[in-house]
Amino acid sequence: MGMFEMKPKLATVKGRAVRCVVCGHDAFWSREVKLNSSGAELISMAWANQSAVGLICADCGYVHEFAGKRPKLWSQKRGYPEGAK
Ligand SMILES: [Zn+2]
Repeated sequence: MGMFEMKPKLATVKGRAVRCVVCGHDAFWSREVKLNSSGAELISMAWANQSAVGLICADCGYVHEFAGKRPKLWSQKRGYPEGAK
């Protein structure tokens, strides 16, 4: 494993499996998304940090952004942790 993650990952948020809202796919590329000042103002929530995590659907490419709870990533090989729905 080098600097880049070579395989898309399964993701959970608050223990729930994340599915693409567009196509229902379950594997995502992730990347850190820096929020600029105007973006931070738009969000204006106490928990919003200076960065968000983008989960990019490995199938259709739709980007799901998380500015609060960080999604947890799991390898497709090992699968979801026990209890994930
Ligand atoms: Zn998709």
